[in-house]
Amino acid sequence: MKLQGRKAMITGASRGIGRAIAVAFASEGAQLALVATSAERLVDTAAMCQERNKLDVAMFGLDVRSSADCDAVVKQAVEKLGGLDIVVNNAGVTRDNLLMRLSDDDYDTVLDTNLRGAFNITRAASRPLMKSKAGRLINIASVVGMVGNAGQANYAASKGGLIAFTKSVAKELAGRGVTANVIAPGFIETDMTASLDAKVKEEALKGIRLGRFGKPEDIAQAAAFLASDAGSYITAQVLVIDGGMTA
Ligand code: NAP
Repeated sequence: MKLQGRKAMITGASRGIGRAIAVAFASEGAQLALVATSAERLVDTAAMCQERNKLDVAMFGLDVRSSADCDAVVKQAVEKLGGLDIVVNNAGVTRDNLLMRLSDDDYDTVLDTNLRGAFNITRAASRPLMKSKAGRLINIASVVGMVGNAGQANYAASKGGLIAFTKSVAKELAGRGVTANVIAPGFIETDMTASLDAKVKEEALKGIRLGRFGKPEDIAQAAAFLASDAGSYITAQVLVIDGGMTA
């Protein structure tokens, strides 16, 4: 039980990687506040968490693009959990298109959700994290934020920005004992990648040296490690989990 007594907030926890992180944290004994676009969407994840530990799970419907709503939800989560030790900014979207066809709306939606959303939550959570004896910020970016990808200029910009943002926060909060790190996944099997063309997937698989797509649990185990005492001397780092795709 590496996270016994720890209080964690995870955004984008209704499915995919966020759900796997919630379940992994629950298995390690953490008390959870989960966020998705509506609280109803979190019911199944919460039930899976409660199968692992019997603790109440706080569920919040929130659009992370709204800073006022993020402030209010973080405040409520801190009250409900009695503090906050771990924040995982995982909520994210894609709106893929070639640069020439990328609309203002597709650009803004991706930047506002993936980067602005993480900023909104992190700023709101910074005080409680500093009060914690083991504050941990874990931001879920992407290898695309490091190497770029044709058809994903908006997404790459948001994830590259998130990496730079996290390193800056790590430097600001280190003096208060808070670590801040990025996990950069490669190709993980979730709703986000399910809709991709079969040909695109076939090509992607060829570039993955371990010969398989990642599973949400591959990311969740690493997040649990970074959140635990075992990760206490790791900060301002980018942990790439991509089966060797960008090696
Ligand atoms: P997913 O299955 O599409 O789930 C996205 C999650 O984000 C959902 O819980 C969704 O909530 C939430 N969300 C989206 N917009 C939101 C908003 N405005 N406010 C609050 N919550 C919002 O995605 P995933 O594949 O698990 O990806 C999770 C993270 O990993 C993302 O940041 C993604 O960019 C990153 N990532 C994924 C991959 C991959 O291959 N899958 C690779 C690299 C990085 P609802 O259910 O309520 O819509």
